[in-house]
Amino acid sequence: MQKLTVQSINVRAAKVPLPEPHRTASAVISESPLVFIDITASDGTVGHGLLFTYTPAALVPTATLVENMRPLLEGQVIAPKQLASDLAGRFKLLGTQGVVGMSLAGIDMALWDCLARSQNLSLVTLLGGTNKAIKPYGAVGFDGESGSAKTAEKLASDGFLGVKAKIGYSTVEQDVKVIRSMRKAVGDGVAIMVDYNQSLDVVEAMRRLQYLDDEGLTWVEEPVSARDYKNQAVLSAATGTPIQCGENWWGIDDMQLSLSMESSNLVMPDVMKIGGVSAWLEAAALASAYRVPMSNHLWPELSAQLLSVTPTADWLEYCDWWNPVIKNPLIVKNGYAELDDQSGSGVEWNEKMIEKYSV
Ligand SMILES: [Mg+2]
Repeated sequence: MQKLTVQSINVRAAKVPLPEPHRTASAVISESPLVFIDITASDGTVGHGLLFTYTPAALVPTATLVENMRPLLEGQVIAPKQLASDLAGRFKLLGTQGVVGMSLAGIDMALWDCLARSQNLSLVTLLGGTNKAIKPYGAVGFDGESGSAKTAEKLASDGFLGVKAKIGYSTVEQDVKVIRSMRKAVGDGVAIMVDYNQSLDVVEAMRRLQYLDDEGLTWVEEPVSARDYKNQAVLSAATGTPIQCGENWWGIDDMQLSLSMESSNLVMPDVMKIGGVSAWLEAAALASAYRVPMSNHLWPELSAQLLSVTPTADWLEYCDWWNPVIKNPLIVKNGYAELDDQSGSGVEWNEKMIEKYSV
C-alpha cells in the first residue's frame, strides 16, 4: 500500500472579530488572531489545523514559524504520533512551549485531520471511538449582575446544561451577587462554573473560595496564577468547591506536574497548548490514570471528538468565537452537541471570511 505523505503546507493569518466582545477580569477580547494551517497529502486530501495566538503581536510570527517548519514536513509520511515525536526532538534545545509548541500543535492537528479524511473517517472513528454525548456549557463574560444573568438565561434556553461566568469583581460580595443572579435566571437544573482567570493572590483566593463554598458551584477555575501549583494545591485541599485548571498548561509535562502535586480536582487542557491531538491522547491517559474528570478549553468542534475518546470526559466548553470563519460550527441542541457525519476533525473553513479578515 502506498504511504500517504505530506505534499505541501499552506499557512494563512487572520484577525477575526468575535460575534460579541468578551470581557474578563483583566481584559476585553474583541478579535481572535488565528493561524490557518492546511496540509495537502500526496493523494490530494487536505487536513486543517487552527491556532489562536491570543495577541495580534504573535499572529504573523507564529504563521511564519509554521511556514519555516515546511522543510521538516514535506515528503514525510503522515504518521502524526511519529512526526510529533520527531519534531519535538528537533526543538528540544529551543523548548516546545509558547509559539514553538503552538506551531507544532497546529501541524499535528492538520496531520490527524488529513489522515482521517484520507480514509473517509471522522477523527473519533480513526481514534477507535464513537461520538459521545458530552455535556456542553456556554460562556458568560465579566458582565455584572444583570448582564451575566441575561446571557446565562439565553444559554440555558438554547439547551446548554451549564454556564461559566468570569468573576473577580472588586469584592467577593459582588462575585456572589453575580452568581446568585445567574442561579435565579437558570434555576437549579443548570450547572454554574466560575472563572477568576488567575486574578487573585492566594490569601484573597482562600478567603473568597471559602465564601463561595455554599453557592453550589460546579467548579472554580484558575483562582491564582496558573503556574502556582503549590498554592493551587493548598486551595484545592482547603475548599469544598472543586478547583479547575489546565488551559494554561504547556505540554504534558505541566499537566503531569500539576496532577502529581494535586493542584486541582478537575482538568481542562487546551488542545493547542497541550500539543495537539497526539498530546491530547496522552493527557487523556494521564487524567484517566489519576481518575480526574477532564474537560476542554476552546476548539469545541475538535474537542467534542477528542472528549469522546477521553475516558474521564466531563464537560464540553462551547465557544462561538471562531464561528465567522468556520463553515459548519458545532451546534448544541437538546442539551448536547450534534456530532454527525463529520469528516476528519469536523471543521471546514469559510474561505470567503478568512480572505476578508486575512492580514
Ligand atoms: Mg478559563
